[in-house]
Amino acid sequence: MSETWGPGALFGITPRDGDLTNWFAAVRTPAGGAGTVHELRARFGDWHRSVRDVLDRLDPAEVLHHDLYESPALPSYVRGTTALIGDAAHAMTPNLGRGACEAMVDGVTLATLLTEHPVIEALGRYDRARRRRTQRLVRTSRTVARVATATRLTGVRNAVVGTAVRFA
Ligand SMILES: Cc1cc2nc3c(=O)[nH]c(=O)nc-3n(C[C@H](O)[C@H](O)[C@H](O)COP(=O)(O)OP(=O)(O)OC[C@H]3O[C@@H](n4cnc5c(N)ncnc54)[C@H](O)[C@@H]3O)c2cc1C
Repeated sequence: MSETWGPGALFGITPRDGDLTNWFAAVRTPAGGAGTVHELRARFGDWHRSVRDVLDRLDPAEVLHHDLYESPALPSYVRGTTALIGDAAHAMTPNLGRGACEAMVDGVTLATLLTEHPVIEALGRYDRARRRRTQRLVRTSRTVARVATATRLTGVRNAVVGTAVRFA
């Protein structure tokens, strides 16, 4: 299991059941782009052995490519009797691995409040309970994304993160 940060890009490898490997790559680049296996190999082909092993075994038909977007900071997750939960409220970059977790917390929080309070009051409480916290996570995740795919000062980044990891 690893996540490797290079200049302007990252590559992650995680285990999967059934003798399979899950992998992901992110590149700081303008929206769009083909994200083809050819591009992946050109971009990551000189990274370390584990990355090259994954690239060697890729089935092009199974590679998914998407641009990543995050939500603007909404002034409220509630309007009238409508409430936003999950990515509709606070889509974030995947760098903290928290988007789906927070979507579930939203759902449980909202359901619990609706069993305890009248609808309008429950929605107000939901907004107060969840908005500030999830918007903070959006910002933190964005910061991690920027650091992980930094294009400048990567030597300083690597030294600081390397030291922090050694003492963690
Ligand atoms: C690369 C990547 C890695 C991630 N890794 C993690 C991770 O490790 N851990 C984690 O917690 N989160 C992770 N996330 C985030 C996570 O995937 C999302 O936060 C989560 O899926 C949000 O759930 P959701 O139900 O709010 O939205 P979605 O999963 O987007 O579900 C919304 C659904 O609504 C459907 N829909 C849209 N419009 C309509 C319509 N008009 N009518 C009917 N249906 C409609 C869509 O098709 C979709 O199925 C990752 C995200 C990405 C992109």
